[in-house]
Amino acid sequence: MKYKRILLKLSGEALMGDRQYGIDPIRLAEYADDIKTIHEQGVEIAIVIGGGNIFRGVAGASNGMDRVQGDYMGMLATIINGMALQGALEDKGMLTRLQTALKIEAIAEPYIKRRAVRHLEKGRIVIFGAGTGNPYFTTDTAAVLRGVEIDADVILKGTRVDGIYTSDPEKDASATKFERISFEDVLAKGLNVMDTTAFTLSQENELPIVVFDMNKPGNLLKICQGENIGTLVNK
Ligand code: UDP
Repeated sequence: MKYKRILLKLSGEALMGDRQYGIDPIRLAEYADDIKTIHEQGVEIAIVIGGGNIFRGVAGASNGMDRVQGDYMGMLATIINGMALQGALEDKGMLTRLQTALKIEAIAEPYIKRRAVRHLEKGRIVIFGAGTGNPYFTTDTAAVLRGVEIDADVILKGTRVDGIYTSDPEKDASATKFERISFEDVLAKGLNVMDTTAFTLSQENELPIVVFDMNKPGNLLKICQGENIGTLVNK
């Protein structure tokens, strides 16, 4: 396996499947199958999940809600998704722990780095909920932050597109995909991989990112085996 310890970032929107809102149990089960496959290969797996399928702070703010209030609601949404994913993984026999950046003791452990690493070493899948625990951040930033903290080999950003393109492939038919691109070139070309805070944190810590299509079963395994799936961003 190319990667021993990964930080998998799943967007909340991806969990919707074909729905307009909420969680699609079929999609969730498919993700759990893919995760199980790499788990069986001995990959240590930490997961950060978004909340966009339920609530986004900026959306609340555009409707007149206080931004900070909205962001905390968004963080709670990520905990709901984390619990759903935890259930799906456990249904398939994996051992998991949910750790949250906001304390919610009846359902999750508080985030403690050393404990998270210990869980990973014991083969438990660790899901990090509530993002960074701070408003004005995103779950992409949480993914990179946790990835750096637990010393992950790579951030695997599962999305609906299969990598980073020269321009938006949905609008520009001549767009081509990068197999690999440097952090510097992403910035120089103004490409959109993650929000700036998340991206800079990854660059500063030389933590590579792979952007790939998580909705294609088997991709996760192929990446861990070292195949060129999606786009790799590194130094
Ligand atoms: N959020 C936050 N701080 C964080 C992570 C998330 O305030 O560290 C809030 C923010 O309002 C965000 C929402 O949680 O809009 C859901 O997260 P995100 O939009 O990153 O989810 P995704 O786009 O991956 O589904």
